[in-house]
Amino acid sequence: MASNKAHHATGWAAGIIAAALVSAAHGPASEGAGMIPAVLALLAGVAGATAPDWLEVAWWTRARRLWITHRTLTHWGLGWAALLALSWHELGRHPAAPVAFGFACGGLMHLLADWPNPLGVPWVGPRHSLNLWTSGHCDLIVVGAAWVAALFVVDDVWFHHACSRMLLNVLRPAA
Ligand SMILES: [Zn+2]
Repeated sequence: MASNKAHHATGWAAGIIAAALVSAAHGPASEGAGMIPAVLALLAGVAGATAPDWLEVAWWTRARRLWITHRTLTHWGLGWAALLALSWHELGRHPAAPVAFGFACGGLMHLLADWPNPLGVPWVGPRHSLNLWTSGHCDLIVVGAAWVAALFVVDDVWFHHACSRMLLNVLRPAA
């Protein structure tokens, strides 16, 4: 796995992405009340980002052994993607949908963070690895990429591209 610290740091980014998308799905009409599902999605995203690893530990026993093989079912991309799609569809209809959606965002973020490691991630069938670096290395790249993604989503949903427009203005050479 990517280091636990990296999973936590990317988890907050996943939570913020989930919160922004949930608030967008709930629409501007519910701006005040829409805060609650967004906050739930944020917290669920943080929990979900470490979930693939703690779900495979039998934490209810004293030995805390793994009850399934590391990086198998709990790291199954298709399962997390299905949860994401289903909960997205249920947003605004089912009260638990924001939590499920945030949890799925976190889970997928976890898989993305694990993907570059040699062990790889079983997205659909057998494990696939990007083979970029070994576990714990290059956490900064993983965390940085997650936060750039979060900024893009937040800029789009909450600031309506105000940030990217400002950035373009700064980068544009003076006429
Ligand atoms: Zn993992």
